[in-house]
Amino acid sequence: MPDTILRLALPSPLRRLFDYKAPAGVPRDALQPGARLRVSFGRREVIGILVELADSSDVPADKLKPALELLDRNSPLPAPMFKLCLWTAQYYQHSLGDTLSWALPVLLRQGEPAAARQERYWHMSEGASLDDPRLARAPRQREALRTLAQHHHGVPHAMLGKLLLNKDSLDLLLEKGLVRVEVQRSKPLERHGGWLAQPELPLNAEQRAAFTAVQSGMGDFGAYLLYGVTGSGKTEVYLQLIRHCLEAGKQALVLIPEINLGPQTLERFARRFNARIALLHSGVNDRERLDAWLAARDGEADIVIGTRSALFTPMKKPGLIIVDEEHDASYKQQEGLRYHARDLALVRARQENLPIVLGSATPSLESLHNAHAGRYALLRLGQRAGNAQPPRFLRLDVKSLPLDSGISGPMQQAIRQTLEAGQQVLVFLNRRGFAPTLLCHDCGWISQCPRCDARMTLHQRHHELRCHHCGHVERTPHNCPDCQKVDLRPVGAGTERAEERLNILFPEHPVLRIDRDSTARKGAMDKLFHTINKGEPCILVGTQMLAKGHHFPRVTLVAILDADGGLFSADFRASERMAQLIVQVAGRAGRAEEAGKVIIQSHLADHPLLVQLTEQGYPAFAEQALSERRGAGLPPFSHLALVRGEAHKPGQAEGFLDQACTYAEQLRDELKLAGIELLGPVPAPMERRAGRFRAQLLLQAGSRASLHRLLAAWLPILEAMPSGRAVRWSLDVDPIDLF
Ligand code: ADP
Ligand code: ZN
Ligand code: ZN
Repeated sequence: MPDTILRLALPSPLRRLFDYKAPAGVPRDALQPGARLRVSFGRREVIGILVELADSSDVPADKLKPALELLDRNSPLPAPMFKLCLWTAQYYQHSLGDTLSWALPVLLRQGEPAAARQERYWHMSEGASLDDPRLARAPRQREALRTLAQHHHGVPHAMLGKLLLNKDSLDLLLEKGLVRVEVQRSKPLERHGGWLAQPELPLNAEQRAAFTAVQSGMGDFGAYLLYGVTGSGKTEVYLQLIRHCLEAGKQALVLIPEINLGPQTLERFARRFNARIALLHSGVNDRERLDAWLAARDGEADIVIGTRSALFTPMKKPGLIIVDEEHDASYKQQEGLRYHARDLALVRARQENLPIVLGSATPSLESLHNAHAGRYALLRLGQRAGNAQPPRFLRLDVKSLPLDSGISGPMQQAIRQTLEAGQQVLVFLNRRGFAPTLLCHDCGWISQCPRCDARMTLHQRHHELRCHHCGHVERTPHNCPDCQKVDLRPVGAGTERAEERLNILFPEHPVLRIDRDSTARKGAMDKLFHTINKGEPCILVGTQMLAKGHHFPRVTLVAILDADGGLFSADFRASERMAQLIVQVAGRAGRAEEAGKVIIQSHLADHPLLVQLTEQGYPAFAEQALSERRGAGLPPFSHLALVRGEAHKPGQAEGFLDQACTYAEQLRDELKLAGIELLGPVPAPMERRAGRFRAQLLLQAGSRASLHRLLAAWLPILEAMPSGRAVRWSLDVDPIDLF
């Protein structure tokens, strides 16, 4: 009888499966696809996932190794999730093993049992008594026993500290047989009563129409674009749809952008429902992540909320997927498996027959295009919910105005008036640090990063120059490194500089900076929010961290210091991103009774895109931008794939890509694939980064199917190219960042 061959997906970049023999003594029927096995791979031991069983292998029998150990009797990965991973690996042309590694919780990848945490519970023994004579002179043990006596279901080991139970006392009680320890599965939370912990708001007409549209489509695949201005009550619609889903006995998956992770968002869901919520985001540790994943898989969590990778959480009874702020760039993973969680959420919804709601005040042009094409149902919320008024926009031409740390005179005036009226101001500047460049006024030396084609940012408070691209850090020099003179001057302004200047201009009001540097410490953000929520006049200065999800009812002026970057960037998506950012930041203003005002400083105040955005709003801007994309044949009217390469020697990556390009041209002709353009290779816009020289090759195609046919045939060739060994290269399907 022939050996059973196991085809395993291993955590390796190689796009293929690996054959092994069954571990000694394990019969064929104990081997289930999806199960994990420990195997030796090269010089390492790794954990692979069984994809299929076979009767023969191309590997000669004497070269086939047996797997070392079978870790699962039953596949830990439910079939729908496995199917999604297969689809993902295929679409992004990524190795299946590596795809599974990104999709699975870390502990499962490391071989942890795929079962909820077993916990030790302390119980009082049957028949034990507080009056036991052996406790007469042991008051602490007696106290401990008394506490246990009050907990009929036992006390989990992790809770001992909270109940002031002393481990030594318990051990002594254990020796006496007065207590016992039981290992049991931690109890799933129990629910009592209805699903709502808080009354719902009566929906307005637009909200109701949106709610009804999705609700009537429950139980089937359907994609809905909930396009509602900031503050229009999209979240309220999500919440009521989730309630409906829970009542139907199903689970809901909610994806949120990284930046929305604040307690405000999470609390809103937790407060509304009497439900078991599984949280999956960068802040939870590996054990919590596994427990949440298992709870969702086994139907013991009702709502799953998380960032990008939560998309891969299996659910026993899925009912609904919501992707909040669907335009947000954090849904796209920019390393390893370069997937887009929103796009995969749609695939998942189709595979599992679920309705999916994509919500945004500023939908991506891709999603708008899909709505125009009838692939998504468009649900509009045009009015702010409650009493809030939409903000007014003013463009402030600063062409001939002096800027004082980035802030013009009229802008200072507007800030002063707002503070004097007892209101709060939000100053938006999407640049961290004190100044983006340090310049020697004598000889022209600039703070160039030694490892990148980029300048180092001055972080005054830490006396450091930091490269925001590679992380290189230097002490700020006192003298010019070239001419030794002492006239070093910061050029341009970042949030730190704006903060310093505003503090001098408005000494009587607090100035709070909110960016990655000021909120790095745990709890810092909460402290800032506490001050803001007190409602006294103050100035918030920050980067895009300020732009999303937060609710600042007392802010009535939004001061945007610099919008120009988005208007003349080489990246065709820059204007879309700028418009989204402006609208999102503007949406923070005047969300309560007072109307808000948004002032945009610009050297290009008459730029048509800016005029359109501020006078007619995002929908008009988006239509204009879409028609420009159509004219230029750019996404969503074409499909892109980008190969990036980087190497230690100049020209090395380009050489590799050059050869790769030749192969692609050959394949294109062989397979008769029309309408695929190969652009490049060219040096990356920032050619040198972190000491490596980078180049890229862009593929642009009218048809996604042809592009994928080409990629599928091309990637194995790239993998085998000897010139690729010295080059670190990667493929990005549907890149959102061309740099
Ligand atoms: P969005 O998610 O679209 O930005 P939110 O759901 O956060 O909007 O709603 C903005 C504000 O309006 C919140 O304070 C919310 O409580 C309130 N709100 C939402 N829907 C209603 C409603 N139907 N009636 C009254 N207030 C509402
Ligand atoms: Zn100098
Ligand atoms: Zn650098």
